[in-house]
Amino acid sequence: MPYHVYMETFGCQMNEYDTELVRTLLKQSGFAITQEQQRADVVLLNTCAVREHAHSRVYGHLAEFRAIKRQRPLVVGVLGCMAQNLKKELLDTQPVIDVLVGPDAYRRLPELLTQALLHQEKGLAVDLSEYETYESIVPDRTPGVNAWIAVMRGCDNFCTFCVVPYTRGRERSRDPHSILDEARSLADQGYKQITLLGQNVNSYRYENWDFAKLLVAVADIPGISRVRFTSPHPKDFPPALLEAVAWHPRICRHIHLPVQAGSDRILALMGRQYTKRDYLTLVEDIRRRGADIALSTDIICGFCSETEEEFQETYRLVEEVQFQSAFIFKYSERKHTIAARKYADDVPDAVKTDRVMRLVELQKSIALAKNQTRIGQSVEVLVEGNAKKSDQQWMGHTEENITVVWEKHGTICAPGDLVTIRVEDASPSTLFGTWLPE
Ligand code: SF4
Repeated sequence: MPYHVYMETFGCQMNEYDTELVRTLLKQSGFAITQEQQRADVVLLNTCAVREHAHSRVYGHLAEFRAIKRQRPLVVGVLGCMAQNLKKELLDTQPVIDVLVGPDAYRRLPELLTQALLHQEKGLAVDLSEYETYESIVPDRTPGVNAWIAVMRGCDNFCTFCVVPYTRGRERSRDPHSILDEARSLADQGYKQITLLGQNVNSYRYENWDFAKLLVAVADIPGISRVRFTSPHPKDFPPALLEAVAWHPRICRHIHLPVQAGSDRILALMGRQYTKRDYLTLVEDIRRRGADIALSTDIICGFCSETEEEFQETYRLVEEVQFQSAFIFKYSERKHTIAARKYADDVPDAVKTDRVMRLVELQKSIALAKNQTRIGQSVEVLVEGNAKKSDQQWMGHTEENITVVWEKHGTICAPGDLVTIRVEDASPSTLFGTWLPE
């Protein structure tokens, strides 16, 4: 009888991808994966160290597992960025944890779980690697329309607020031929949209391959309808990459361009390696190549010593760029980062919250106005599945990554189809429409 493993994933898409890799590694070693926590001999939390909220949820789960462990045997493992960042400290302060494994050490997980299950031994594997890309491991994916491929891992940028360079190590890129083989196999299995992933995806480099060349090669694979990529850094956008987004019919006309702040002093404190002017010049370059290329962004409010005037610069930048969407967060200090060592986290929490709320309101009004201009137009949508709120409706995305919802009744479509929808109504995050026959 195999041991059953239940997994829960927090944080970014890269973590979701790593969970798929871990499932493969465990299955290869004879473990079974279960969706029912009550049946599990092992529970694994694949954690995120970037957001405070994800941290708190992990501690909440550990408290639950403590109660379960009083009633029956259970091996508890913590994987991912929190495991890497907090290491032994987490093992020492949370005795409920049996196994702690960082993002570069997943190949050791089956062995450590076996030791914990058979001999009640604690296991720790948090070595970072300069080479590990899990290239030979085929992720155990959930069947569907979307698939993700990690093309590089790690980050060398050391933005001062970010733990990623410490939890995921130095940048390393995968052999492009293994990526293209994986993408071809995904096309053969019926996946329609591929998202290329990396902490700093556009710094991909392997011999004479750069990211633009890789992106075009993946988009050229027959059977793939759409290709996306995330998350890029604004400093790594050569003209060839912008042109690929502008002309290739299967590369989505959407660029996620994390700005983080609109003040040069704050950008310098964050170590972002660009000024507001550099960023706006890049936005102009993108829009010159395609006025309809949608931009989204990430913003941190209340970074160390940010003044109201500096926040206003971020606010004005958002007004100027007119993003399609934005992820807006309060700054929260992460242990072991440069900012945690060098700067005081001195903006009061209430001020951070107030800035986030003002920016969210602004962004909502921008997104609503943009989406309302689409009312009456036809948009091409990749059908992905049932809408979140009703299984009587389909849901998909436009190339610009806008969610579209329409009634199933009277339509002929299935997940994976590219369909035309006439937009009838709009909210800041969603277009509502009707299906148009071919
Ligand atoms: S580019 Fe900056 S924010 Fe992004 S992963 Fe690297 S260090 Fe973190």
